[in-house]
Amino acid sequence: MAAPPRVAIVGGGLAGAAAALEAVRQGAEVMLVSAASGATALGWGSLDVAGAVPGSRRLRWRAPLREAPLSGADRLAILIGTFATHPYAVLFGRDAARGDAAAAAEQVKQAVEDLDRALQPHGLGVEGSLDENRLLADPHGNVRVCDYAFTGAAGGNLAEVPEIAWVTLAGLPADPASVALGRLAAERAALGLSPAPARSVELRLPEGLALESVARLAAELDRPDALAALCQVAKEARAGSSAGRMWLFPPVLGLESPAPKLAALRESVGSPVAETLAAVPDATPGYRLQRALAAALDAAGVRRYAGRATNLAVREGRIGALGYTNEQGDAVEIDADAVVLATGRFLAGGLREEGGVVAESILGLPLYDGKGARVDGRPAQASVRRRYLDAHPLFGAGVVTDARLRPVNAPGGPPVAPNVFAAGDLLTGFDAARDRTGLGVALMTGVAAARNAVQGAKRGGLS
Ligand SMILES: Cc1cc2nc3c(=O)[nH]c(=O)nc-3n(C[C@H](O)[C@H](O)[C@H](O)COP(=O)(O)OP(=O)(O)OC[C@H]3O[C@@H](n4cnc5c(N)ncnc54)[C@H](O)[C@@H]3O)c2cc1C
Repeated sequence: MAAPPRVAIVGGGLAGAAAALEAVRQGAEVMLVSAASGATALGWGSLDVAGAVPGSRRLRWRAPLREAPLSGADRLAILIGTFATHPYAVLFGRDAARGDAAAAAEQVKQAVEDLDRALQPHGLGVEGSLDENRLLADPHGNVRVCDYAFTGAAGGNLAEVPEIAWVTLAGLPADPASVALGRLAAERAALGLSPAPARSVELRLPEGLALESVARLAAELDRPDALAALCQVAKEARAGSSAGRMWLFPPVLGLESPAPKLAALRESVGSPVAETLAAVPDATPGYRLQRALAAALDAAGVRRYAGRATNLAVREGRIGALGYTNEQGDAVEIDADAVVLATGRFLAGGLREEGGVVAESILGLPLYDGKGARVDGRPAQASVRRRYLDAHPLFGAGVVTDARLRPVNAPGGPPVAPNVFAAGDLLTGFDAARDRTGLGVALMTGVAAARNAVQGAKRGGLS
């Protein structure tokens, strides 16, 4: 029997993890090198495949001609058909050209199901669909139009809620409830939703629980006694609460699996309970995702190594090994039949400014912005606009690939190597903060890169 293909993956965010899990499903032996957490660990709780940005022309909320809300599937189709350099257009281009965007939506559905199945045993799930919008509040009372979200925020769909109890915890830094509720009402009106009665509920936790930050309290609430105390004060505050009222907590329900905490609180207040999404500076949902991904990788048999990848080594005319520096500072090589780079952008270290110019960190790959202009070899500032809210070319910059997600030196050119693939934020053509496609791109390109890597390796690295 032939030995399984060996796939080395660089990056432990969702793109790298999704690639690793898919490569295992495809029968590969998988090694994953990760330097640290990146953008995935900062996520706010939605898994945006094609989340809407109300008021934006890019991923808008309503169809201007129909005045009806667009679904995630509608937005995915618009995105594929309109933005030629977006990673979805690279991935699904042929489907879209045939007007068959439904096939792309099916692939998304399958990838989300696979991710959900991998995460569930580790206390996290993905809920949602491309057919229906979820309207989720953030801690400031802003409403985000989402397609998918993780356990915690996912249950707080304001489109379905007749009444809201906005929970604050005395002592925990937050906007005053009156400010958040005022914003929530204005956001609902702007989205064309009917008003929903909302009242604030302030809970006072017993002395001794850390309330300096959302993350510290979340860590405490992983302890059964602390959770029991929260349930008790919530129960005492429920007087007069109707059974349909949605209790929206800040994203404090544990750094580990939120599902049992939601269930315990639901039992205490006798009505639906969810968290809001997170917002800067808090990222409990991202932290939970990062932890659950690591557990899922271990369960799938992926060999994980802590360290920083430095180079790819050529063996017999093709990339045959990944070099990295481990935590002890030793240089190590991993033999590989294919390599997936999922190293993110500036935040994670996939791109950096070095010697006054922007560069891709491992291979020095050429970098392009979404309009096809070179970004590497120039100061970062040269690709940033003057006004903060403008679209900054630098933040949509990354590696250009062929349709199989292999980096190329120039758009339309041949791959730099037949067995090197790229995924996630490292790719050009989208700005996760503006487009609202961040974790969706990480998931879909991670899965596709792994499939291409394993198929290529099974054919001897040639394609
Ligand atoms: C504050 C914030 C909030 C966000 N919220 C959301 C949200 O709610 N929903 C959503 O859909 N998107 C969100 N996004 C966008 C989303 O998080 C990213 O698009 C996505 O996580 C990118 O995943 P990735 O795996 O490509 O990169 P990352 O998660 O950044 O992972 C890159 C990995 O590569 C590793 N790495 C880099 N270089 C090397 C090297 N040389 N050797 C070894 N390892 C290396 C890093 O250590 C890291 O593990 C948010 C982004 C930010 C910044």
